[in-house]
Amino acid sequence: MSPHPRDQIKQKQSPATHRQTLAHRAARGACLALLLGAQNLSHAQATHKDKMNSAHSAAEALAVHNSAIVIDTHADTPQRFVDEHWNFTDPLDGGMLNYETAKKGNLGAQFFSIWVDPGQYPADASARRTLALIDGTLEQVRRAPDKFALCVTADQIVAAHKQGKFAVLMGIEGGHSIEDSLGLLRDYYRLGVRYMTLTWSNTNHWADSSGDIDDTTVPHHNGLTPFGNDVVREMNRLGMIVDISHVSDKTFWDVIETTRAPIIASHSSARALTGAPRNLTDEMIRAIAKNNGVVMVNFFPAFIDEQWRQAWNTQRPERQKAQDALEAEYKAKGLPVPYAASDKIDREFAAKIGRAPFNSLIDHFDHIIKIAGIDHVGIGTDFDGIPVPPEGIDSAADLPRITQALMARGYTADDMHKLLGENLLRVFRDVQAAQQKPPVIAPGQGQ
Ligand SMILES: [Zn+2]
Repeated sequence: MSPHPRDQIKQKQSPATHRQTLAHRAARGACLALLLGAQNLSHAQATHKDKMNSAHSAAEALAVHNSAIVIDTHADTPQRFVDEHWNFTDPLDGGMLNYETAKKGNLGAQFFSIWVDPGQYPADASARRTLALIDGTLEQVRRAPDKFALCVTADQIVAAHKQGKFAVLMGIEGGHSIEDSLGLLRDYYRLGVRYMTLTWSNTNHWADSSGDIDDTTVPHHNGLTPFGNDVVREMNRLGMIVDISHVSDKTFWDVIETTRAPIIASHSSARALTGAPRNLTDEMIRAIAKNNGVVMVNFFPAFIDEQWRQAWNTQRPERQKAQDALEAEYKAKGLPVPYAASDKIDREFAAKIGRAPFNSLIDHFDHIIKIAGIDHVGIGTDFDGIPVPPEGIDSAADLPRITQALMARGYTADDMHKLLGENLLRVFRDVQAAQQKPPVIAPGQGQ
């Protein structure tokens, strides 16, 4: 969940990226001019040969992609399960991810985001909504056990993959879900939740968020409070992955100080390329590499393309007006605004900007690899939580294009296997190895 109307995305210039995009577009134009100007046979032959080569390498890249365990750490689909009574085996119907497109794109494992909209659910009703979303996700597995496997360890993901089953995992997005209770945190672990994003766009009682850090009306803590440190330590003890997407910069550095296990950014891109405060600076990316964690690239155009981000920010007052009108309409009925309704408004506004270039997405993978190394990058699509993915990515079925584009830039089959899933499996194993057993007492234990 990223560009929700309450997700604060602050204006910030990144002239370097702007220049890069313009240079890229100019190069594309020059290339076209060259093709149009091609008169002699040898050039035509060379062009034909290049096409054959790239066709060959595209097929090769597809084979590499299809031989990998592909893991996406962030999709906001559970709201569809609960609010729309939509099943993962149903046709997409406006979504970006379902069983069919996952199969087509060889997506093998999905962390489903359990996200409670703090603007729609009162703080003391967060747990109830969290439980509803967990139930909605678990029900998908119950209904089609021949297709899905609920996985709570890295080894289970590998086993599900061998059986040809789609691995279903859960991550909570926003520490407000625990309602300041380590007991609730443990309960979520018992139900199968394996990561928690410490904040969403809202600062909670124990951790500052990047989403409202400049809002002086929000009480801030200068990062993590002592209880926030306890949450991180309890997650380490449980073997639950600490996710720093969405947190403020100070919270990030506090987490780095406190955690005893590797961490992830389940859906964050690079701030050096796109100036969203939700993105990670190069210093943070290096710190995650040193922590042996992994940064999963978010696909939201406002996080991967500076021009798109600025256009999106320019629209904000008008978009907010439309969202406020929608909220008033539901408030009058005494109902929370369904995500699908507010997403519809965001999609209409996003359509006015158009699609962000596919290469902007690839640039973020490339950048993070250059800064952190190939062992510390992965995929965190944010499917079903963003109004539109970049050009060329309509659904999970298009994931092989990422492998093709990165291999065209020189990355190897081994590199791709790491990026597509092995890096996340490594972190998951390390986090579980740091667990203190037994992490909890559950029914059937402790007799
Ligand atoms: Zn999010």
